[in-house]
Amino acid sequence: MRGTSEVTRTVVVRSVPLPRRAFRIFVELEGMYRNLVEQLVLYAVNNNITKFTRLKAERYRDVRSLYPQLPSHYAYTACQDAAERAHSFLKLKRMGRARKPYPEVRSVSIWLDDHLWRAEGLTLVSLATHRGRLRVSVELNKHFLRYVNRGWRLTTEAKVKLDHKERRLIFYITFKKEVSEYKPKDYVTVDVNEDAEAVLIDGIVYLLETNLSRVTLGYYYRRKSIQERYDRIYGSGSRPARRIFKRLSNKERTFKREIRWKLAALIVREAARRQAAIVLERLGREPVNHMIERIKNPQLRHRIYQAAFKGVQAAIEEKAREYGVPVIYVDPRNTSKICPIHGAEIVYGGNRHGVCSKGGETWHRDVVACYNLLLRALGGDGGHAPSRLRAFVAVDGGPVPLGPTAAHEPTPIARGAWARWKSLGATSDHKLMRVSA
Ligand SMILES: [Zn+2]
Repeated sequence: MRGTSEVTRTVVVRSVPLPRRAFRIFVELEGMYRNLVEQLVLYAVNNNITKFTRLKAERYRDVRSLYPQLPSHYAYTACQDAAERAHSFLKLKRMGRARKPYPEVRSVSIWLDDHLWRAEGLTLVSLATHRGRLRVSVELNKHFLRYVNRGWRLTTEAKVKLDHKERRLIFYITFKKEVSEYKPKDYVTVDVNEDAEAVLIDGIVYLLETNLSRVTLGYYYRRKSIQERYDRIYGSGSRPARRIFKRLSNKERTFKREIRWKLAALIVREAARRQAAIVLERLGREPVNHMIERIKNPQLRHRIYQAAFKGVQAAIEEKAREYGVPVIYVDPRNTSKICPIHGAEIVYGGNRHGVCSKGGETWHRDVVACYNLLLRALGGDGGHAPSRLRAFVAVDGGPVPLGPTAAHEPTPIARGAWARWKSLGATSDHKLMRVSA
């Protein structure tokens, strides 16, 4: 039986700049809403409430009477908003990580439900306010239209934030789609490494470079040198140092997320086009891979692991759900140590190349890993492969990808190159260049 899952995506849509008078109404609305949320959060935290239903049961009437001119559903969504804030704050507190006795309601997005907003066509949004219903024009964007055109359903949940500088409303709109997985006809295997993903598609192993561990290390050393400099001038833990740290961390996070997301999209699209399942290593708790073990600092090691291994897998899973691509997990043990043709041990020298102890052929570590993941997904382990594998893995110099005489080399592709591609079809030029180089 194939699974069906519901996929949601949030899209940002901005209003046109509003006239001063209209914008002021939204500023008033934001003020009242913030006040409601602040009071509700305080109450919830004091009474250890994390559930919306309980908070609403105990506080709705009072909150409702505070601003009788406000449409009643704002009291309702403010309870939802506050319950969620209280929930995450109490969780932090339990873990001893809350810095203040109460959560600060710093930035506010007003939560909306089906009574409070509706889309009128593609360019108008109508909002319920304390001054009646108001319509604002929104700027159409490519992102929004893509979801509309691809059969995603607009949900009734939305949030709106005020951009005081430009006098715009920023809407966070949620789309939903039911996706069912197809039955795979083929396999695309992915071997995740710290700085590259090896991907086996149609008998070719592509090595898509991500440099994720280098990105992590780069930011780590930058932060460290900044910290040393600022600590000398301002003392440790100073405010200017914290501010720069935060900016750097945000940049690092955004940059890595973009790399992972693009990579996942590329791999998933290739799999979907072939109606193939994606085969991934089942990751354990501890990083098993080569370079990462040598890093002494446990926090740094964790960060590299999260970004390069867990993060890439999570991005692939997420994207795969959207396209209905099945994902299969296999045991990662010894995937790069056993020859996929002979089932014998591969002896590695100092680098990523090894020699099969039985056939004597040379292998690149990532190519071995990709083929072994494929064999495991098919239900064999190379040595005891079922019959359909025997045909695939011809020992006597057979099909090119696994013939013992072939060079078992991946096709490396730099991040700057693949990040611009929509598909791997674009690689043929690149391959020619590699060969002639
Ligand atoms: Zn061999």
